[in-house]
Amino acid sequence: MTDAVVSDLQILLDSRGIEATVERVAAEVSADHTDGVVLAGVLRGSVPFLADLARAMSIHVRIDFLAITPYSPGTGRVRLLKDLDIDITGRDVVIVEDIVDTGLTSEFLSAQLNRRNPRNLSVCTFVDRPARRVAPIEPDYVGIEIPEEFVIGYGLDYEGRYRNLPILATADPAVLKENPDAYIAALY
Ligand code: 5GP
Repeated sequence: MTDAVVSDLQILLDSRGIEATVERVAAEVSADHTDGVVLAGVLRGSVPFLADLARAMSIHVRIDFLAITPYSPGTGRVRLLKDLDIDITGRDVVIVEDIVDTGLTSEFLSAQLNRRNPRNLSVCTFVDRPARRVAPIEPDYVGIEIPEEFVIGYGLDYEGRYRNLPILATADPAVLKENPDAYIAALY
């Protein structure tokens, strides 16, 4: 662990901050869906958030998951790798994401799910970074809005690392590119 690597890190939310954030979002989603809701989590980054959100909600919740191919810059094309198992026709559905960045994932999934005639469809994200938005997406429920920074932890990874951190932190993408494990000693 070097000083340079540690100083790159900034903790945006510690575990208490995450808990308070999730409780607020859970109350907002619960208040808007008193008949119950399907939480449609986008694999894999949404898993910690979805698990905490579902347990903090005061309404009946069904949980299902979707996965898409990574968005490739240039083409903007994505494809469903894993579809929902639940029939969402006539149901209230909330897409749950780790971060809405360009908004292309939300836009694609919203279009796919809207075709199935849910009663209501909304987007809930733990992190919102509007600065890099490409698609005209405004998430309905937001945990924390951040400026132009790369973040890790609480589901957000770098090449599969850091997803299980119970904090949300900024990290230097140049440091990670050089060494994907660079922050492991400082954070675990
Ligand atoms: P979109 O650009 O479609 O809104 O988001 C695509 C995906 O890129 C997100 O679900 C997330 O997995 C990944 N992503 C975007 N920004 C970040 C970030 O700052 N940190 C991490 N770890 N992943 C990100």
